[in-house]
Parts: sequence; C-alpha cells; structure tokens
Amino acid sequence: MDKAKSFEDLFGGAPEARADAPGRVNLLGEHTDYNDGFVLPTAIPQRTRVEISRSPDGQHHFYAVKLDVLSSVAPEGPAPDNFAGYVFGCIELLKARGHAIGPLCMRIDSEVPMGAGLSSSAALEVATLRGLRQLFNLPIDDVEIAQIAQIAEIEYAHVRCGIMDQMASSLADTGHMLFLDTRTLERRVLPLPAHAEIVVIDSGVPRTLAGSKYNERREECEAAAARLGVPALRDITDPTATDTLPEPLRRRARHVISENNRVLEAATGICAERFGELMNASHASLRDDYEVSVPELDYLVDLLQQEETVFGARLTGAGFGGACVALVRAGEGRSVAERVLASYNRAHQGRVLVPDYRQRF
Ligand code: ADP
Ligand code: MG
Repeated sequence: MDKAKSFEDLFGGAPEARADAPGRVNLLGEHTDYNDGFVLPTAIPQRTRVEISRSPDGQHHFYAVKLDVLSSVAPEGPAPDNFAGYVFGCIELLKARGHAIGPLCMRIDSEVPMGAGLSSSAALEVATLRGLRQLFNLPIDDVEIAQIAQIAEIEYAHVRCGIMDQMASSLADTGHMLFLDTRTLERRVLPLPAHAEIVVIDSGVPRTLAGSKYNERREECEAAAARLGVPALRDITDPTATDTLPEPLRRRARHVISENNRVLEAATGICAERFGELMNASHASLRDDYEVSVPELDYLVDLLQQEETVFGARLTGAGFGGACVALVRAGEGRSVAERVLASYNRAHQGRVLVPDYRQRF
C-alpha cells in the first residue's frame, strides 16, 4: 500500500489543531437503551484522529485516509452523503449554536474498524468536535460534544441512534467503563473490573437481519410496557412482573428487565469473576429470551466461555451477526483471542478486533 498522504502533502502546511477519540464496545446493557434503561460501554484502544486548519479557498476539504477520498464541500451545503456528512453535520450544528466556524481543511485517520459495531461513526464525530473545540476555543464540554455528535448522526447520517456511542467515545477511556442511565443521562465513569482486559472478536456474519428485527423488538418492548402500564420497561425491576404477558412479549420484557438489573449490579464495583457471570447470563438472555443471537455467535461465545482465563463472554451490539466481547484475565487477551479464532475459523471467517491484531491476522 502507498504511504498515507500527510496533512502537509494534502494541504501544504502543518495543521492548526489535532484531536482524537476512541471507538467503544458495550460490555453489558444490550437492547436496553430504547427502553430508557442502563448501559455499560467502555472505550477501545483504537482511535480516530483528525488534523484541522482553516481553509484558504472558501471550501471545506475533508480527506479520509482509510477511504483515500478527498471530499470538497461548499460551506453553504448541500450536506454530502458520504463520510463527509458526519463532519459537515458537526460543523453545521456548531454554527447553529452561534459559533463562528469558517471553511476547513481536515484530514481523518483511524484505527477503528468501520461498520463492525465498534462505533467508528461516533469516534469520527467526537474527534471532529474535539478538534473544532480546540481550534476555535469553543466553550463546550464533553457531554455537549456527545449530544451534538448524536444529533449529527441522526440528522446528517440519518441513523436513528441513542446516545450511548457518543457518550462512550466522549467520556470513557480504555481503563474505564461508562455507566449511563439513558433516561436521565446520569452517569458515572467507573474503573474496569480489576485484573481483567477486553477481547472483541467479529463473527464475520453480516448483520443483514439486524435492522428489521431491531424494529420488531422495539415494537414488542413498547407493547409489553403498554400492557404492564408503564412508560418504559425500565420502570419495572421485578422480572416475575412479566408473568401475565403473552409470549413472546413475556420473554422480551424479561430480557430487558433482567439486563437492566445486571447493569445495575455490574456498576456497583463487583469483581471480574462476577462481572463475567453477568456477561454469560446476558448472552443466555439475549439468545433465549430476546432471540437475537445466531448459531455462529453462540459458537464463538461458547469457545470464549470454555477458555480457562475468560471470566465471561457474550454477543455485543444488536445481534444477528456482528461481534462478541469477552472479559479475560489481564495479560491473557492475545493468547485467548488467537486460540479461539483458530478454532472458530476452521468453519467461519472471524477476525479479532480487540486487541488490535491487524498486523498478525
Ligand atoms: P460503526 O459506527 O459501527 O463503525 P456505522 O455504519 O455507524 O458503523 O459508521 C460507519 C461509517 O462512518 C462509515 O461508512 C463512514 O461513512 C464513517 N466513518 C467512520 N470512520 C471513518 C473514517 N476513519 N474515515 C471515513 N469515514 C469514516
Ligand atoms: Mg455507528
């Protein structure tokens, strides 16, 4: 591969500002955010980096190293529909809040895999907003950055997302997880369980059904909440309260309620062994009650759970493909990932995402 073009190569000078932001993985709290519930993501080591200067020619110029695409955009629009839309959206939303931002030159590089469920989109938005905050000395805090990033994703990338990804990218780091109440935005940055590290493996199964099934699950949850007479399933803490519901609403609601309880317990500072048990229980619940797993994810989770140094493992993200996350004894992540992937890839085509194995796989 050709050497990546530097900012100087592209724009003929050094950048005025630099910033970065991490991708994220959700450790516990799956399919809870649209039920006003609790989530527990952490940052991953891979980051997105931006370099920015004022543009001399009245146009925005955004260069994505990974795509080798230079997108030139008029500041007055229309909004571009490729990767530049995320960046353009962040700029427009800042302008709408009264911040004077002129045309920009920007170079974007990233280690976060795109479209793998590790939130490369949030990392791009948060890195962009951090870079703009720095360049223009903007009085915005990290929570506002996450909020603007979420609106950019909804309005300019047309993805109807919650705020978990942007809050995780903006507020978490690799040593910490973000406990977030998605109803109130109350949050706590907590240390990861002691003596443990994170492994993420992509199953290689495309998430083709994820969109339609996601909407179906949302509707089932709304129906269950309505029958139980609460605004959202988050308002119920006793899983047996679902006993009066017809199937499959009973099991769907039971997953959400038990998952919220697992997140609340995990946020109390439990040891890695207990945290792992909660992850295993989360996977069983996603598989049996919520029915969003597929055989490949079950197999991958099974392989991970059989490892002696794995505290727990589960599918992460919406399901129907995508990745699994495991909590592993500190120092063992690479060897666990290598062994599990070797077994899994006898019949499938997975890849390790964390730790970052790009050089070796
Ligand atoms: P995820 O957030 O899970 O990685 P998304 O589909 O939400 O997946 O976001 C992926 C999109 O974000 C890409 O298709 C691209 O438009 C944009 N993107 C993210 N990172 C980069 C990057 N480094 N360079 C260019 N575009 C990026
Ligand atoms: Mg995304």
